[in-house]
Amino acid sequence: MRFRPPKFIKRLYPSIIWNFYNDDDKTSVYLTFDDGPNPDVTPWVLEQLEKYNAKATFFCLGKNVEQYPEVFKMISEHGHSVGNHSYSHVKGFGLSVGRYVEDFDFAEEFIQTNLLRPPYARCTPLQIKMLSQRFHIIMMDIVSRDYSNKISRQHCLKNITKYVQAGSIVGLHDSKKSEKNIKYVLPRLLEFLKEKGFECKSIIL
Ligand SMILES: [Zn+2]
Repeated sequence: MRFRPPKFIKRLYPSIIWNFYNDDDKTSVYLTFDDGPNPDVTPWVLEQLEKYNAKATFFCLGKNVEQYPEVFKMISEHGHSVGNHSYSHVKGFGLSVGRYVEDFDFAEEFIQTNLLRPPYARCTPLQIKMLSQRFHIIMMDIVSRDYSNKISRQHCLKNITKYVQAGSIVGLHDSKKSEKNIKYVLPRLLEFLKEKGFECKSIIL
């Protein structure tokens, strides 16, 4: 599904990057994987990307990097970039700015990066303002809903292939929850993007 934030959201969150649309670039697509690393999913994802010489960006959880440091290491060894997705998948609403930012600080002990994605996309303008002093805040324009067990695998793939365009940031997950969908979707998506002449790149800012 395409996600185009309403104007008031863009005004409330001016520092957030939603896409990399650019008239001079007709080929780049940015796949992103959230909530990993996971030993059952992440190495498999890396293998698929490698087959297509595709690069991506992994928004990792500090607690998972702490638990699976060798899986985390594989991501950068394969030439992908990593982002901070908080330590414990924290939800911003109802938390003080200090407590919210602290969770990303905990994650920073394990993930060194200038990229950040807020979990659930739920946080206040002030929380984002604080974090954007230190990080580029990356959201997405294509939502796959690969974590959902309410949609079919085919539907999940269609959510992406129907809307993806040059400059798109595609939201995927390398988590246990999305394993069933991602293992169907990713090889087909990579094949689709290759046929269309797209090049999958890591986000590097
Ligand atoms: Zn997440």
